[in-house]
Amino acid sequence: MSDSLNHKDKLTIAVVGSGPSGFYATEALLKNFPNTSVNIIEKLPVPFGLVRFGVAPDHPKLKQVIMVYNRIAENPNVNFFGNVELDKDITIEELQRTHHAVILCYGARSDRDLNIPGTSLKGYHSAREFVAWYNGDPEAQHHKFDFSHKNAVIIGQGNVAADVCRILTKSVDELKKTDITTQAIEQLSESKIRNIHIIGRRGPAQAKFSSKEIRELGELSNCSNFIEQQSYVIDDIDKNQLSAPAFADIAKCVSIFKDFGYKKDSKKQHSIEYKFLLSPIKICGDSKIESITFMRNRLTDNRKAEPTGDTITIDCGLCFSSIGYRGQAINNIPFDDVKGTIINDKGRVINKQGTVITGLYTSGWIKRGPSGIIGTNRADSVETIETLVKDIETLKQKTIEENAFINILKAKKCRYISYEDWKKIDDIEIKNGSIIGKSREKITDIDKMLSIANK
Ligand code: FAD
Ligand code: NAP
Repeated sequence: MSDSLNHKDKLTIAVVGSGPSGFYATEALLKNFPNTSVNIIEKLPVPFGLVRFGVAPDHPKLKQVIMVYNRIAENPNVNFFGNVELDKDITIEELQRTHHAVILCYGARSDRDLNIPGTSLKGYHSAREFVAWYNGDPEAQHHKFDFSHKNAVIIGQGNVAADVCRILTKSVDELKKTDITTQAIEQLSESKIRNIHIIGRRGPAQAKFSSKEIRELGELSNCSNFIEQQSYVIDDIDKNQLSAPAFADIAKCVSIFKDFGYKKDSKKQHSIEYKFLLSPIKICGDSKIESITFMRNRLTDNRKAEPTGDTITIDCGLCFSSIGYRGQAINNIPFDDVKGTIINDKGRVINKQGTVITGLYTSGWIKRGPSGIIGTNRADSVETIETLVKDIETLKQKTIEENAFINILKAKKCRYISYEDWKKIDDIEIKNGSIIGKSREKITDIDKMLSIANK
């Protein structure tokens, strides 16, 4: 831990959340004010947010961004406080009192709701729960997934849905060297799932996949990709849009869909069927899912889905709703319940009446909603810090008691995890992984993480 917190002439700023937006906010702060002390507050004992618990285990290259975050964390003016949860271990008022500014980067840890009957049946899960489970998130290890039925349905056609498809269709051999948890490999190796239906409420030209992800699904070794002919509609409005440069990537997706064709290759063990223009209306079953009924849609001129009145029912034993994550409100922080975001103007937190909350800022998914890749959060955090820079003379007026933040944690007997502590956990995970030929074996139990840190 640096002793820089003791210097009276420095700004002390709290960043809540150690995902991409938190690290990029820290980077931008230090670029503008190299002498600032930044306290990164993270609820879990381990850093990196969705880079650790979201990005798919079979996409290790994307996790190399952690090297950038390590460099930021190793700056002597940066102090990591893992295992400290805003609103549980510390209140927003305590953070505000002990810092010149607080930047909220705590992401989106809940789900958009499908709002249809049957979502309490066994076998219905959000993709977020599944992703967090196979990626070793300690808060998701209690979930039980039933892989015993041959049909699974994924609702939503975005990149998270594509990740879920790959994990359900790849063989143990293809996953065993990654950092997917051993528990997940063991359970997936017993999976009886053979057919995945991946459902979009709009047409192929409105799917949210990126072409890279769809191409990768097409390259799966033992999986047939095909599209439902009836729902594959590209009309003149779509054709017009797809020729515009802004739609170049989705035009590539559409061309890949066409290459998939309408027929299943029954020689392949697994299949992924893309069905478009379907909205779920009811999940059916006694105690567990047996089928899902969908309304067939058509598109309005402005590309919204509207019901046709025709329905279709798909038998399945497992359903993942992959319709987007959702941010959660925290006490005394202005929140937009419709968008699931903190109310803000270019990162400056404002209340419902539009009044600025001095010294409170936000960035990342909790600022703008659950969309965008890792890099998107860099520009987003730069925007927030540019806003903060404009306020700097006001922020400097505040007097902060020396060590006030650490003193609160100590008074509450909060066992916070430093970056050095995290590195001990990191070393053990890599070592445990290498013994069994994996890049890392994640520790999924918080008490175990803390006991390693205590050694
Ligand atoms: P997060 O990454 O969620 O970080 C938020 C952090 O805040 C977390 O560490 C969390 O534990 C912490 N936190 C939450 N609540 C509190 C609290 N109360 N107190 C303290 N800390 C708290 N992008 C890519 O570029 N490539 C990919 O391959 C890719 N794959 C993805 C796969 C999935 C399944 C998902 C969901 C997203 C993926 N993304 C990918 C997008 C990328 O992960 C996000 O853009 C990015 O992680 C958002 O960053 P964030 O910092 O806003 O939120
Ligand atoms: P997303 O891209 O927003 O896709 C959500 C999907 O759910 C869309 O098809 C959407 O359809 C549908 N949907 C939303 N509400 C619905 C409802 N009520 N009923 C039925 N369908 C509904 O979200 P995501 O897949 O969760 O991804 C989040 C972000 O992470 C994205 O920016 C993504 O690119 C990024 N990510 C990137 C990677 C990668 O780079 N490899 C991997 C994973 C995630 P509509 O379009 O009709 O709303």
